[in-house]
Amino acid sequence: MPATLESPCLTDPRLESIRERALAGERLTIDDGRVLYSTADVWSVCELAHAIRTRLHGDIAYYNINRHMNYSNVCALSCKFCEFARKKGDAGEYTRQLDEIRAEGAKAVELGATEMHIVGGLNPYLPFEYYTDMLRALKEVAPKVHLKAFTAVEVVHLARIAKVYKRADRRASMRWVLERLIEAGLQSLPGGGAEVFDDRVHKEAFKGKIGSDEWLDVHMVAHELGLNTNATMLYGHVDSREERLKHMHILRRMQDQALARLGYDGRDVPTDDVADAPEITLTGEGARMPTPELEQGYYQTIIPLPFFPDGSALEHLPGPTGLENLRTLAVARLMLDNFPHAKSFWIMQTLGMAQTMLQCGADDIDGTVVWYDITKVGGSTTHQETTVWDLQRAIREAGFKPVERDTLYRRVERNGREWRVLSD
Ligand code: SF4
Repeated sequence: MPATLESPCLTDPRLESIRERALAGERLTIDDGRVLYSTADVWSVCELAHAIRTRLHGDIAYYNINRHMNYSNVCALSCKFCEFARKKGDAGEYTRQLDEIRAEGAKAVELGATEMHIVGGLNPYLPFEYYTDMLRALKEVAPKVHLKAFTAVEVVHLARIAKVYKRADRRASMRWVLERLIEAGLQSLPGGGAEVFDDRVHKEAFKGKIGSDEWLDVHMVAHELGLNTNATMLYGHVDSREERLKHMHILRRMQDQALARLGYDGRDVPTDDVADAPEITLTGEGARMPTPELEQGYYQTIIPLPFFPDGSALEHLPGPTGLENLRTLAVARLMLDNFPHAKSFWIMQTLGMAQTMLQCGADDIDGTVVWYDITKVGGSTTHQETTVWDLQRAIREAGFKPVERDTLYRRVERNGREWRVLSD
């Protein structure tokens, strides 16, 4: 696939105007998204996403050295697509104790990890202090390791178990929780739990979980508090392409608001009314990208996640095909014109597919990852790990230069397990 911006051979004339506008840094409409999703010329969609990611990141593709920790699989909910959660007393249920958590932190240091990614079920038996103690314990044994922890769903759950949650003033409850987590060591939020922002999908597939309004509020409050966050989209179950486009549109408007708050448009925007936010794209020639050293409080990365039916209550569904995965990644890159990064999460895409996605809009394939229990690809074991060498080889073979990043996408210089952020 050519990496240049020269006129390609488009087999679908509807793509011509989309291509022109995308390359001019103009925002694509939902109607454009419908064309990107429906055209038979899927390779031109991927090629256009590739041109945009090349403009943003040149010939670089990112990976990181990280360690995942799922502190408990006990969950009060029963989302239909989930094969991770257990009820208390079920075979295989677990909750990590503080000494095990400390050992995980020490292991992260020993392996030279720059990040711990920490998520778990909505365990109704743990007190709020369990979470702050967990972060403090990790910071004691691994002070340099970045703690990216707790989805928006968990943050709302923590507000409930701390008994500070008030629906009428939910942002204040979220702020209360996040301030205490930050004080204990929290440094950014992962992007999980977003699924697909749509009431019908919510009702059919994950009723009982927080809705899009609360998920978005948690991230907005996190941004206001100066935390960077990420956003996922779990697709290919009961959702439609139309609903995915709506999800992308909502996310980019929220990012408009976050970037405006950081002064990207030069005017003051009321933080609680996204409707007033100006459209801010980062994909035009010479657009300023956020710099984490100077400013934080925005969405870093869109992470489309394919649904795996096996073992879930939606096992009867086929799940998305490989081509749908490629197309969805490319469409997300094109529609989310104000997200700096698009990730192909190799654990859920497989390393081979993640490598291909680097040529369809992705600039990041995530990390070395040990113990990823949340979603197992094709019935694989929970111990999912790859080596730096494998990640670098996958990136090089795809035609890019591998660059190790930290959680905030700053370059990392490494000598074995010793590392430093280059911009420090
Ligand atoms: S997806 Fe999360 S909230 Fe839903 S059942 Fe699984 S662990 Fe619980």
